Amino acid sequence: MIELKDVWKVYSNNVKAINGMTLKIDKGEFVYIVGPSGAGKSTFIRLLYREEKATKGEVIIDQTKLNSIKERHVPKLRRKIGVIFQDFKLLPTLTVYENVAFALEVIEEPRASIKRRVMEVLDIVKLKGKAKFLPDELSGGEQQRVAIARAIVNRPEVLIADEPTGNLDPDTAWGIMDILDDISHRGTTIIMATHNKSIVNTLKRRVIAIENGRVVRDEVRGNYGYEI
Ligand code: ADP
Ligand code: ADP
Repeated sequence: MIELKDVWKVYSNNVKAINGMTLKIDKGEFVYIVGPSGAGKSTFIRLLYREEKATKGEVIIDQTKLNSIKERHVPKLRRKIGVIFQDFKLLPTLTVYENVAFALEVIEEPRASIKRRVMEVLDIVKLKGKAKFLPDELSGGEQQRVAIARAIVNRPEVLIADEPTGNLDPDTAWGIMDILDDISHRGTTIIMATHNKSIVNTLKRRVIAIENGRVVRDEVRGNYGYEI
């Protein structure tokens, strides 16, 4: 499903963020990416949805080599990949419904099917009752759930999460994990960069630890392995 073959990423300021990374993630896996600040986790994540291009090596998603796709094909790739962030990135002037529908409107889905899909995913994230709210009328956890709904509304094969619980209190963070668990059980591959030690050590899954842009640990049911 996802494969990196000897991937290197050097930023234009000469920072070497990823230094020869090789790994495979199978369809349906739920993987935590851990490591200290500056280790290269976000860069790794951005390589996966082609926000950044590898300097050398291959990033392959579902048989597509990301380095060789043309700019005009990037939107099509992104339809296979949902992304959520620590800071939600919702459009503040659009309602919950509109934030989620947006991703389907740009691909010109028929209106009736948009409505059905949006209500389906709002149900999954338990926000059907708040479809008409604006983002700033919601709690942080609710905003993240809208972001999750937006990310999965295209039925992507992969959901990528960069510190999805980073801005949330512990209870709310666990609520987000419940939803990610549910999405994982529906067959979506999930890759989640996180600093949340208690989540990683409790909801045991594959852990890939990155330090200095390299994989230093890859365990089937791993631990967080750092103090904070
Ligand atoms: P992490 O997510 O683990 O904190 P990052 O991938 O953000 O790590 O950063 C890895 C290294 O790359 C750091 O040294 C960081 O300063 C650098 N870096 C990250 N993004 C950029 C960028 N857009 N331009 C230049 N350097 C960057
Ligand atoms: P840009 O790459 O210039 O930020 P995009 O249209 O690619 O513009 O992305 C717009 C916003 O949506 C950005 O914040 C981006 O990180 C985010 N984004 C991109 N792809 C996805 C995706 N598949 N799912 C969710 N959010 C995405």
